[in-house]
Amino acid sequence: MTRATRATLNLRALQHNLTVARRHASDSRLMAIIKANGYGHGMIEVAQALDDADAFGVATLDEAIALREAGIPQSIVLLEGFVREDDLRLIDGFQLQPVIHHPDQIAILEQASGPALDVWLKVDTGMHRLGVAPAEVAATLSRLLGCPRVARVRLMTHLANADDHEDDFTLEQIRRFETLDDLSVTARSIANSAGILGWPQAASDWARPGIMLYGVSPFNNSVGEQHDLRPVMTLRSQLIAVNRHQAGEPIGYGGSWRCPEDMPIGVAAIGYGDGYPRHVPSGTPVLINGKRVPIVGRVSMDMLCVDLRNCPKAAIGDEVILWGEGLPVEEIAEAAGTIGYELLCKVTARVGFDYI
Ligand code: PLP
Repeated sequence: MTRATRATLNLRALQHNLTVARRHASDSRLMAIIKANGYGHGMIEVAQALDDADAFGVATLDEAIALREAGIPQSIVLLEGFVREDDLRLIDGFQLQPVIHHPDQIAILEQASGPALDVWLKVDTGMHRLGVAPAEVAATLSRLLGCPRVARVRLMTHLANADDHEDDFTLEQIRRFETLDDLSVTARSIANSAGILGWPQAASDWARPGIMLYGVSPFNNSVGEQHDLRPVMTLRSQLIAVNRHQAGEPIGYGGSWRCPEDMPIGVAAIGYGDGYPRHVPSGTPVLINGKRVPIVGRVSMDMLCVDLRNCPKAAIGDEVILWGEGLPVEEIAEAAGTIGYELLCKVTARVGFDYI
């Protein structure tokens, strides 16, 4: 790829962030969550860099198979579980640990011959997405343990509101999970990144860090740096034009922004075709030569325009940083009305990746 629009992926930062998770969850094993192509960072490269993780969590069977085919030896947990007997054959073949979240899956396990698997039973403590209600867990567990296809059973639940420190619902979910303390299972898991960093009550045998590994805060009111996290992805481009426009002239599609005076406008070679969010308002910052410079007008598919009045020496070829080192993705996500997770996952294949 020849275009200067590239993402730098700092694998040392990734490893540092895993040590932060270890520090907070010192009595837990860590299942690094690397679904959705490692939150957009490249799943295989992320897994190889995180060789210290105790297990990996992915969403789909294809993701799990890709990890095994790349030679990743750790346990791999299939968070979506499975819905067909054919999927179960692949789970057997690639030695995966499926999440069991529905009785239909147990019926498949009971009917299909094959090796005994380690499974995770998902408990719905309040997220109401996947899982078995706490009141059903004891019966489900004994059904699972009576199935020759099941070796060990671990219990897990997922926190719905842990990103909000003020929301007591997290404590209620933990309390509901604790009602299952007497059940005989091999291990338990509650905490995602927000649980690890913000809710010590969520500590259990396994923690499941995701977004924090990529250097991003899981909370709605902080950035990664405040939790000693380092950004892994820095998204960069360059100025491909610097033009002067007169007071009153509109910039970009729809002319949504007009020059307040005669001024220099820079054009950076990145747009929503690369995954930069189209919906950021004028004023959203980029970094040029270490200075925060505001975007003006609408982001287009391949380009965006910036107001260079406070950066008069900026020239064609200068680097433009969209997020990462020096400019938290959380800030851009907030401007775009979304979360850092989504921006990181949505960088498109047109952007070249450099691992450092
Ligand atoms: N556990 C499960 C079941 C998940 O679905 C996810 C991600 O959504 C995680 C853990 C990691 O969450 P986070 O990225 O917020 O740490």
